[in-house]
Order: sequence, then C-alpha cells, then structure tokens
Amino acid sequence: MKRRPLLAGNWKMHTTVMDACQLAAEIGKCSVGLTDRDVLLAPPYTVISEVAHVMQGSEVLVASQNVCWEAKGAFTGEISPTMVKSAGGSAAIIGHSERRQIFHEDHEIINKRVRGALAFGLMAVFCIGETLEEREGEQTFVILEEQLRKGLAGISSEEMGKTVVAYEPVWAIGTGKTASKEQAQEVHAFIRKLLTEMFEKDIADSVRILYGGSVKPDNVDELMAQPDIDGALVGGAALDAESFCRIINFI
Ligand code: PEP
Repeated sequence: MKRRPLLAGNWKMHTTVMDACQLAAEIGKCSVGLTDRDVLLAPPYTVISEVAHVMQGSEVLVASQNVCWEAKGAFTGEISPTMVKSAGGSAAIIGHSERRQIFHEDHEIINKRVRGALAFGLMAVFCIGETLEEREGEQTFVILEEQLRKGLAGISSEEMGKTVVAYEPVWAIGTGKTASKEQAQEVHAFIRKLLTEMFEKDIADSVRILYGGSVKPDNVDELMAQPDIDGALVGGAALDAESFCRIINFI
C-alpha cells in the first residue's frame, strides 16, 4: 500500500517567539509545492499559535509536543486538545521517550493522552522505542510490543486510522547514532505486523510509521527508501532550517 510520507519536526524546549516565527517562515518557504508528502511542526506550547499563523495558507501541519485528555480543568502545567486546536494545531506528539524517561509517564497515562487526543479530533503521533540496555539484552521486540499494546489499548480501528506511530530507539535520539536502515526496517515491519494483529488489516497497512533518532540530511534518503518507513520524526536537525528543508525534500 502506498502511504503518504510524513516529515515531522520536534522543536522540544527550544525557540523564543522570535526564533520560532523565523524558523517557521523559512520552513514555510521550502515546503511550497511539496504536494506528495505531509510536513508537521511541533513547536513549544508558547508558540503553537504563532507558528500556525505563519503557516496559514500552507499545507504545513502544527502539533503540540504532548496533550492532556481533558478539555479543561485543574491540570496545572498541562495543555488540552481544545487549546491545541484553538491555537491552530491539529496533532499531538504523545509518549516521546523524554516524557517517558525524564517525566516518568507510564503506559497508562500515555494511553489516556492518546485516547484523549483522538476523542477531540487531533491526530496522535504515538512514540515508542527501546533503550540501549534493552536492545543489547535482546528485549527490543518485547518492549515495543508492550508499549504498543498498552499505549494503544481501547483504540478502535477507525481511531487507529488517525494515529501515526513513531519508532524512536532511545539510544539514537540526540546521540548522532542512527539505527541502520536495516535495523529500522526490521523494527518497522515488526510494528506493522503487530498492528495487523491489533487492528483491521487495511488500517494496519495504512498506518504511517515514522523513524526518529538522529535523522539528518545525509541519512534521510536511505531511511525513506525502506518499504515500511513512512516518514521521520526529527529533533536536532529540525531546528536548522537548511537541514530540515533538505529532510522534507528527501528523494
Ligand atoms: C526526537 O526528539 O524525537 C529525535 C528523534 O531527536 P534527534 O533527531 O535529535 O535524534
């Protein structure tokens, strides 16, 4: 099945209002005419609205880097799906390894976030990935299966159709170490097979699975040439307009 590529930039805790507007404007320019792929930017909450404003009239999508499951209430420090939408966002990254590792978000809370995002009509970009210790202990597939089954518990096939999975090996995030194209493809094929067990086959076939972990201009083409790699979730290189422009223009 032909899946529409998705290139996503996660700006993490970077950019002031001015930096964000400038970066968004440069990315906006180099995304003109890219009609065969989707581009998504996940800036900090403080600039979602500004970035969405800069991107108005373009096809570039805007996402939050996390999201709560409630529309409003006493959830200090959180952002709700309705807030994201009202600021011009249409998606949310959920379960990023930094949320799991630094902020101890567990399967249950991540699952609530995924379900909440989908219930309010946001596209969920659901991240999974193993640590180096887990890979070396040959636990990669066990860990990924647990993250997938628990994180996506209670999601219907229809909702899965609005979900993107991002495979991000923790050992490759921000380290300059990329999974080889063979390592990434092997895991992506495993994820797709598992999705086939969990959801209707045509849905599993249509779900986009992104690779994330030190994606750069010089490795994006070979990664994107793999049959089960449908896009990239990019951290560091997404903060540099020239690099990200090359990435979204992968061949
Ligand atoms: C990420 O933060 O999702 C990521 C993949 O970062 P980097 O590209 O810097 O490894």
